[in-house]
Amino acid sequence: MSEDKNTVDRKRERKEFLTGRNVSFTYPGRKSTPVVKNVSFDISNSGITAIIGESGSGKSTLLKLIYGLIDPAEGEITINGEAIPHSQEKLIPGHVDMKIVTQDFDTLNLYAKVWDNIASQLPNTDLVFKEKKTREVLKLLKIEHLSEKRVADISGGERQRTAIAKALVHDPKVLLMDEPFNQVDSAFRNELQNDVREIVNNTGLTIILVSHNPEEVLAIADEVIILKEGEIMESGLPFQLYNRPENTYSARLLAKSNILSSEEAAHIHIHAENNVIIHREWIEINNRGEYGFLVEGIFFRGFYYEILITDDVLALTVLTYEAPSFGLGEKVGITVRQHHETKD
Ligand code: ADP
Ligand code: MG
Repeated sequence: MSEDKNTVDRKRERKEFLTGRNVSFTYPGRKSTPVVKNVSFDISNSGITAIIGESGSGKSTLLKLIYGLIDPAEGEITINGEAIPHSQEKLIPGHVDMKIVTQDFDTLNLYAKVWDNIASQLPNTDLVFKEKKTREVLKLLKIEHLSEKRVADISGGERQRTAIAKALVHDPKVLLMDEPFNQVDSAFRNELQNDVREIVNNTGLTIILVSHNPEEVLAIADEVIILKEGEIMESGLPFQLYNRPENTYSARLLAKSNILSSEEAAHIHIHAENNVIIHREWIEINNRGEYGFLVEGIFFRGFYYEILITDDVLALTVLTYEAPSFGLGEKVGITVRQHHETKD
């Protein structure tokens, strides 16, 4: 008996939650150029999946397809094994189990109080529940103290907390977030990201987050999907994608990596069939290295320095946390501590 139950439980855990199969989409009037191309994905429940790509790579479009605001031209998206209904089949836009939050706070009423923005989402049929639930999400987003303030009078970070609370008051299974931290001052961004992570851990919410910011994505995501010109290049764990990406595009996007052709790599005695990536922090500048490079640029970046070095074949960017002991125009050596060969 108990064995049967375990099998069932494990099956339930393994069940794919949100899937896309060969999804393509073209905006009307752009017939020849699909902006989402043959995309397939499996997103498991409870956790944060981040979609990252350059501006215009189709991130927002993919999110709208998942939400059911627009319909795939080809392929299918399912949630819990059921196809997302087409947008014309619904009175209210968007899937019932999902809510979306964007960077524009466009769901908020600026001139209403924070409390009313959230409470107004719930029916008046059960006023005790309405009060309790509103208080619960205010607490979850740590904005109880703002409940009597108008949205117009609070900060960007506080508005985004209100927008998330307004979405979560519906108890969605999935929260879609499109560049949600863009309008939040950088000083408050980490705090909000930590709180979002805590909510996921405590409630089992599934988040799909779209971002172009690698630091944000690497820090917050359980899984990362890399999008380029409407196609998924690769997906995986943040650590894996950062250190061992399959594509130079991923390396450039996530790590601003130095990309070397196999001929260029051979110049510093790295032998590879394909392109080689060397993250900026994988290079050490010293007096021991055998390669003669010229220091072309030293850029102070706050808590680190970016150094541009060249020789007759290569131009490399190096990242160091210590103030450089060399000056512009000096000759230096390098030691490459780590490198990685990509598949392209
Ligand atoms: P991202 O969010 O990654 O910046 P988008 O999904 O917004 O990318 O856009 C992908 C591509 O589709 C871009 O080339 C963009 O110009 C185009 N696009 C976005 N929205 C529309 C629209 N409503 N009509 C026509 N083209 C659009
Ligand atoms: Mg976008």
